[in-house]
Amino acid sequence: MHIGIPAEIRGEETRVAATPETIKKYTAKGVHVVSVQTGAGARASIPDSEFEAAGAKIVADAATLYSQSDIVLKVRGPEAEELAMMRKDAVLIGLLAPSKSENIDILARHGITAFAMEKLPRITRAQNMDVLSSQANIAGYKAVLMAANVYQRFFPMLMTAAGTVKAARVLILGAGVAGLQAIATAKRLGAVVEAFDVRPAAKEQVESLGAKFIEVPLNEEEKANAETAGGYATEMSEDYKRRQSELVHERAVAADIVITTALIPGRPAPVLIKEETVRAMKPGSVIVDMAVEAGGNCVLSELDQTVVKHDVHLIGIANIPGLVAADSSTLYARNLMNFLNLIVDAESGQLRIDRDDEIVAGTLVCSDGNVVQAS
Ligand code: NAD
Repeated sequence: MHIGIPAEIRGEETRVAATPETIKKYTAKGVHVVSVQTGAGARASIPDSEFEAAGAKIVADAATLYSQSDIVLKVRGPEAEELAMMRKDAVLIGLLAPSKSENIDILARHGITAFAMEKLPRITRAQNMDVLSSQANIAGYKAVLMAANVYQRFFPMLMTAAGTVKAARVLILGAGVAGLQAIATAKRLGAVVEAFDVRPAAKEQVESLGAKFIEVPLNEEEKANAETAGGYATEMSEDYKRRQSELVHERAVAADIVITTALIPGRPAPVLIKEETVRAMKPGSVIVDMAVEAGGNCVLSELDQTVVKHDVHLIGIANIPGLVAADSSTLYARNLMNFLNLIVDAESGQLRIDRDDEIVAGTLVCSDGNVVQAS
């Protein structure tokens, strides 16, 4: 198979879908040829020479690269101009934003076979292919550092000759993959951390990291319905939302830094921080809204902006993993390589798309001109 790695053009994406490490493995057995577009790794600190040393051919222009590629590995879904260059029999693997059905319709109309990595089932066997987890982990870490960067006080408690400085109080809303890493990072920096999640299962994980779990008491029906079989949160009742809102308001006003990560698959992000809460927070406080691309957990955050409102810094950067492009690319590229091992026969190097496999069936969004599953 000929594997192509184009330079990302959408949204100034800094990550790249393969690294010298994965390219060495792709080319090791001689069953794959890998082409990398000139400059594809530049923003992730990977020069062309390193790709070349790992066994890739460097191709100067995108049209040539796409015309050669049986399999295209990408970070972002293709822009129209990229799709136009893609062969109709090509296989595309990447973050294809399948929750917007038109994104998949466009790919299907072009006739390609496409796998959307966001749709990977969260099962044990798929963990080493789980791009959402690998990227959320990095984002959770970086979000805390971004907050620390604009916060005008220390994170740890300091006892100095000039007196004591209090530790920062950090509130994490949503304790999934990103939230748990944010808790761990804030703890390492010495903050006092509390966290909240609708899923009761998150309590033990939060406490195991040394943070305090904030609980909105759930009735029996809410307990049974707070989490889907896949481990995701569900939309909660209006009464629950009111109780949650009061508690979040109280804890946010006591906090110095709030990191919000709450998402509900296929739905707008839940609003957890209202304007009246921001207004009541201490001057100089920081909110990092990691759900900003899905509409935001804070009503005042702005997509891809850092703004100050009511004396509170609001950070609304969508592509946080892109700010740690080297390591994000390392993990993303490994995830894709593990996924390729599932759909490509190791000996012959030929495609082996088994639609009965749960992981293949979950991620395959279009094949031979047809949308395979509703998004
Ligand atoms: P996510 O990005 O979909 O959401 C982030 C967090 O926000 C979740 O913990 C969710 O419960 C929480 N949330 C949603 N609405 C909320 C609200 N109104 N208030 C507060 N919190 C709210 O989640 P994720 O990080 O992708 O993880 C989802 C689940 O999948 C978790 O249970 C995680 O442990 C699990 N998971 C399993 C695997 C696996 O391979 N087994 C891999 C990754 C994640």
